[in-house]
Amino acid sequence: MNIPKKEWWRHRARPDGFVFQMVQDDKESKMEMWTMPELIDLTEKWHVDRNLIDGATSKDQVLKLIQEVGELSDSVCKGTDVKDDIGDCLVILINIAKREGTTLEECLQVAYNDIKDRKGKMVDGIFVKED
Ligand SMILES: [Mg+2]
Repeated sequence: MNIPKKEWWRHRARPDGFVFQMVQDDKESKMEMWTMPELIDLTEKWHVDRNLIDGATSKDQVLKLIQEVGELSDSVCKGTDVKDDIGDCLVILINIAKREGTTLEECLQVAYNDIKDRKGKMVDGIFVKED
């Protein structure tokens, strides 16, 4: 079996969701998969179980988010896989959203409503707004 060194993911649809089969370093393994709402719920419970809601502050978590964004930057610059880095950022954003009395979905709704009618586009690395 010829597997590229860089990991790749294969998605297999199932009636109860998705299964990811991950092939990394010539080894194939399966990951349990959940839907996005399930993942957010499980992550919120994980934070509560580890006292990361009452025992931390949003300021603590913003600092942690900056650390994780740094890891994401490192992976992007090195051209390595970003899935774990983006996931780590989401875990922390879920924590901050929970403490601040909102949800990722609500935040994204607000942000998308702000941008949805914007025109303009990226030209030579600069976003050129259009009225
Ligand atoms: Mg990380």
